[in-house]
Amino acid sequence: MSLLVVGSVAFDAVETPFGKRERMLGGSATHFGLSASFFTDVRVVGVVGGDFGAEEMSVFEGRGIDTGDLERVADGKTFFWRGRYEFDLNTAHTLDTQLNVFADFQPKLSEASRGARMVFLGNIQPDLQREVREQVRGAELVALDTMNYWITSVPDAVKAAISAVDVVIINDAEARQLSGEPNLIRAARAILSWGPRALVVKRGEYGAAMFTDGAYFAIPAYPLESVFDPTGAGDTFAGGFMGYLASQDVADEAAMRRAIIFGSVMASFNVEEFGTERVQRLTHEEINERFAAFKRMTHFEEIPFERAAQATK
Ligand code: AMP
Repeated sequence: MSLLVVGSVAFDAVETPFGKRERMLGGSATHFGLSASFFTDVRVVGVVGGDFGAEEMSVFEGRGIDTGDLERVADGKTFFWRGRYEFDLNTAHTLDTQLNVFADFQPKLSEASRGARMVFLGNIQPDLQREVREQVRGAELVALDTMNYWITSVPDAVKAAISAVDVVIINDAEARQLSGEPNLIRAARAILSWGPRALVVKRGEYGAAMFTDGAYFAIPAYPLESVFDPTGAGDTFAGGFMGYLASQDVADEAAMRRAIIFGSVMASFNVEEFGTERVQRLTHEEINERFAAFKRMTHFEEIPFERAAQATK
């Protein structure tokens, strides 16, 4: 067992300039798990209600995801989120959040889950993230995501959860909001000073960046002509990032750089269609092709500029 994710499993209602869905499978753990399942064994910890049916479960089963720790509250309703995106698709406007069964969720980890080598604390109440962190003391690497909803309502709890993990994976607006620093570099330095060894910043259509103590790495996003629905892009990114890391023997800086590419590759597929639709029928060939495209896209030769070289002679 290598990768554990705790997070929301949800029904989403989403509207973008290109269409809408009234009820589709969503949630941070769902998007993360599907994405990571292309790289490693995944186990999901979460909760759903009696309205979560066989069709939804089959999406997890279809990707070989272990749902043994996905609790089911028969007389409750599954977490529900409704969001809308403007024309530029960069910001999600939350129109409705119904915690439902999530309101009383107490994550209970089985023995197998506690032995996970790597753990992703997906977007849920930060105190719950810390409780899960406590239960996986032996994990080699623990990462966390959060969102403005929690940063606004319980900032101290978010900060405490961040202090207990190795890697933070958030978007740029969240990094600024969390640290109170408008400049991203200063924001990163502030967040790293709370304890984590790496901060990965998702920047939507502008790509992603990684800050570690003394190092910086950034890549653009894959240039897509048609983006349909960004819901879940962040979690799909995290799934590719963590899934790839979990498939490697060592999670050093070089592996984390490759993991950022895989995260970006997975996110780029996710936004091509609504919800989990595209990732559900993705193939390893498609993933590898897009990884190679990223390499070509970001490669340049190290040849000194002729006039500058002459001037230094
Ligand atoms: P993202 O990857 O950031 O686009 O996350 C999208 C997913 O987050 C959606 O599928 C929602 O179900 C889920 N979500 C939205 N709000 C919350 C919340 N407050 N807590 C947990 N999950 C949420």
